[in-house]
Amino acid sequence: MSANTQNLCIVCGGTSHRQLYEGLLRCRACGYVFADARLTDEELRALYDEDFFTGAEFSDYAEDELHLRKNFRARLRVLRRFLDPSRHKRLLEIGSAYGFFLEEARALFESVEGIDITGAGIAHARERFQLDVTLGDFLSHDYGARRFDVVCMWDTIEHLREPQRFVEKIASLTERGALLALTTGDIESLNARLRGRRWRLIHPPTHLHYFSRRTIARLLAAHGFDVVYNRPCGFYRSLDNVAYNVFVLRHNLRLPHALLRRAGVARLGFYLNLSDIMYVIARRR
Ligand SMILES: [Zn+2]
Repeated sequence: MSANTQNLCIVCGGTSHRQLYEGLLRCRACGYVFADARLTDEELRALYDEDFFTGAEFSDYAEDELHLRKNFRARLRVLRRFLDPSRHKRLLEIGSAYGFFLEEARALFESVEGIDITGAGIAHARERFQLDVTLGDFLSHDYGARRFDVVCMWDTIEHLREPQRFVEKIASLTERGALLALTTGDIESLNARLRGRRWRLIHPPTHLHYFSRRTIARLLAAHGFDVVYNRPCGFYRSLDNVAYNVFVLRHNLRLPHALLRRAGVARLGFYLNLSDIMYVIARRR
C-alpha cells in the first residue's frame, strides 16, 4: 500500500518503532515486530513463484505429504472442539498450498475451498483431490455474497504484506460466531528470546510479521475476533525438511542434505514442539 500505511503500526496504529535486530523493527507502543522491508507486488509475487515449494523455502513440499497431513489432522482435532456442526458448515483456507489440509477437512464440513497464489499447489489440489481452489490474491478476489463459517490460515499470516487487510476482509466474509484459526511464530516465546536474531523463524522477506500472544490477540480484536484458544503448537517434520532448513537455507551447505536424501532416510519424520509456534482460534463477535 502507500508509504503512509507502512509507517503506522498495523496492530495499534502507533507511529514510533525501534530496531530489534538488524532488519527487524519493534513498535514502541505495543511491541509488535515486523521486517523492515517494503516489497512491491511484483517482488512479493516473485517470492512465491513455482520454486517456493520446491527449493526456495521448502526442499520439496509435496514430498512431505505424510508429515504435513499428520500436522493438519492434529490441527483439526483441536479445531473440532470449537465447531458446532449445525453452525460451522463452510470452510475457507487462505494459503491452501497443495490442498492437503482441505482434503483432510472436507469430511467435517458441507463445503471446503481454498485460495493460493502459487500455481503448482492449486493445480495439485484440483487434479489430485478435485478441490474447489482459486489461484489468486485473497484481497482482490471477489467472493460476491458468499460467506464462510470457518477461515483457516496455517503458517500464512507472517508472509502477508498487509495481514490487517486480510483480517478485515475475513471479518467482512463471516458472521457472528464464525471461527478464524491460524498458526504463526511467537516472537516472545522462550525459544525465540533465547535464539535472538538466529531464531529459526526469522527470515525476511518471506516472513514479514512476528506476532506474540498479545499482539496477535490485539490485531484480531481490532477487527472483531476474540481469541478463544492460544496454545503452543508442535509439528511433524521430515528429516529432509529440517536438514534443508539447517544446512541449505541457513548455512548454504548442500552436501549434508544431498547425502541424507541419497541415503534414503530423508522421508523419516519426527515430532517437535519448541513452544514457539502459536495455534490461535478466534471467534467473531
Ligand atoms: Zn503497535
